[in-house]
Amino acid sequence: MKKVDYRICSNCIMDTTDPNITFDEKGWCDYCINYYKNILPNWDPNEKGERMIVPIIEKIKREGRGRDHDCLIGISGGVDSSYVTLVAKEKFGLRPMLFHVDAGWNSQEAVNNIHRLVDGLGLDLYTEVVNWEEMKDLQLAFFKAQVAHIDTPQHHAFFAALYNFAAKNKYKYILTGANYSTECVREPLEWHYHASDLRQIKDIHRRFGKHPLKTFPLADIFKYKIYYRFVKGVQVVKPLNHVPYIKEEAMQELVDRFGWQKYAYKHYESRFTRFYEGYWLPKKFGYQKHRAHFSSLILTKQMTREEALEKIAHPAYDEATIAQDFEYIAKKLDLTVAELQALMEGENKTYRDYKSRMSLINLGTKILRLAGVQRAIIR
Ligand SMILES: [Zn+2]
Repeated sequence: MKKVDYRICSNCIMDTTDPNITFDEKGWCDYCINYYKNILPNWDPNEKGERMIVPIIEKIKREGRGRDHDCLIGISGGVDSSYVTLVAKEKFGLRPMLFHVDAGWNSQEAVNNIHRLVDGLGLDLYTEVVNWEEMKDLQLAFFKAQVAHIDTPQHHAFFAALYNFAAKNKYKYILTGANYSTECVREPLEWHYHASDLRQIKDIHRRFGKHPLKTFPLADIFKYKIYYRFVKGVQVVKPLNHVPYIKEEAMQELVDRFGWQKYAYKHYESRFTRFYEGYWLPKKFGYQKHRAHFSSLILTKQMTREEALEKIAHPAYDEATIAQDFEYIAKKLDLTVAELQALMEGENKTYRDYKSRMSLINLGTKILRLAGVQRAIIR
């Protein structure tokens, strides 16, 4: 990584821990500039946006006639996927099938939240349980590879299983909770890399894994972006960009109506992610994903910069819970605490140390940006 003098954006809280960040003469970062130039003018979380999505909703309903469900929603128990489920069912009158992937790290709150939503809205749920021996093997391989993106196995399983299920069962529409409101500043690739790059996963598993991945859900980025999209006709719809979506209000509505439980931070529905984003990544690599999450909330006026600076200055969870989680994670991966500690102290690597499809993905991203499909900065 190139060494740069520390600098932080004067508008959001993104900083030089993203080594590719640039600033303008006002001291605003390129995420901020991109937000005002490319995202905000094309984003209508209001009546105009709703009018734009109505024809798509009508098409989903029309094409779903005669089927038990007209679309598929991947649900994690977090706020984005829970809220998009509520919007799909109540606001748009869709008949979604909910799809959940249990990769072994669910928090109890996540499981409760999913079931409360399923019961409260009278929906059907399909849960795919990932073979734990394979999950554990791939997870350990990523720890041993010493890369920052050790959440890749879990993340890959989530969307690969969802896309594979959609293609296999002839679902044409996948609704996701992806949204600008809480995600307009994307985490830089330096912090997390593409979980959809199967070449990287296979290379890391070949070097550090022990057991073959026989049933683990796999789908390369090109398989789902090209083959599934254009041959199988599976489309992704992002309804939360077309309706008002204020995170705190959405969570409160879920709490009041379904007894849904809040999380302290984004993505904490997974016990692994809490440990990884709250402790491993900041401690071992100096990356704080909350920095991007909070910056998104600053740009969309759901948090002040002062609040974000105050929050980011404090550890995301306390020492006692960290120690508990450290032991829990080690044990679940058949490691001793000392062995996990040794992995923590190993020399850091990046995605560049392993095979990847980065150059092809970069080309694809450029094309999508030129076409105006991809507006957030991905790098
Ligand atoms: Zn900024």
